[in-house]
Amino acid sequence: MTAQPLPPPDDTDQPVSLGGDTPQPGPVLPFAALDTLWLQITGTICNIACRHCFITCGPKNDSHPMMDEEHVLETLREAYDRGVREYYFTGGEPFMHPKILPIIEATLAQGPLTILTNGILITDTLAARLAEIAQASEYSLDVRVSIDGTTPEENDPIRGKNTFHRILAGAQALHRGGINPVFTVTTVHARLAESEGRAEFLALLRELGFTRPRLKMIPPFKLGREVRRGGGYDAAEYLVEGDLMDGEEHVLQCGSCRMVTAKGVYPCPILIEEEGARMGDTLADALKPIRLDQRACYTCHVEGFTCST
Ligand code: SF4
Ligand code: SF4
Repeated sequence: MTAQPLPPPDDTDQPVSLGGDTPQPGPVLPFAALDTLWLQITGTICNIACRHCFITCGPKNDSHPMMDEEHVLETLREAYDRGVREYYFTGGEPFMHPKILPIIEATLAQGPLTILTNGILITDTLAARLAEIAQASEYSLDVRVSIDGTTPEENDPIRGKNTFHRILAGAQALHRGGINPVFTVTTVHARLAESEGRAEFLALLRELGFTRPRLKMIPPFKLGREVRRGGGYDAAEYLVEGDLMDGEEHVLQCGSCRMVTAKGVYPCPILIEEEGARMGDTLADALKPIRLDQRACYTCHVEGFTCST
């Protein structure tokens, strides 16, 4: 592939507000570089409707529609020219996209890819095809499978009836096909955030045949459907100038990533339903410092959290 001339980034270095409702201006996070590109491949369309989904995805929510294949390929070309080093696909449920396999192939031709999925649509046939595509690439393919408990009693009230077994079946299909998934667990059950909960999870995964189990814990973001389940942010949960450490742009993912959806470009995967956080139509509009004035930014800062694997 040959790098093409690009439209220059917007020439102002003025920080962009993310349109939050914090009572004081949020701190400014410099933009380090566009290392990571997220694609909201299936928008907010998902085959399930989890009670903690911070972007309220579900079978009927098309507030962010699916990205069409041409838009994805165009974005990939621009990302390559801008030197992006890694790619993430999320939704919604990425495996609902009718062109997901050619899109995965095109992405793996230019960099490593992680796909976030609930695993339910993954069959042995699909897993074998994914493994084949991954083997043909010089870059890595990681698949992150979300699950929210070590039993159906813990998981299903959050993710929906019978989802525990269906998620594990998809993850086991991946494993049989030669892809070792990363299990992602939102710590909606407090015990799962503690080392005992993690140990229990790892023991369950070993028992199920995952010889090298991988686990990533994610704090709940008090946005979207999670507000109804667990409550919203407290009045005191926001960031102000002076709260960030030196170099935090290298810790918080939004210092080096952007999220492209069918509706425009956002700083990160967490804020796509917050209209004020839309940074523009193109990547060039969005490669600038941001003012962390959304309350969800408090979670990232306090938890030292990044969505990256
Ligand atoms: S949390 Fe993930 S799997 Fe659940 S509704 Fe949201 S996008 Fe779908
Ligand atoms: S929610 Fe987190 S990742 Fe998104 S802009 Fe705020 S600090 Fe950055």
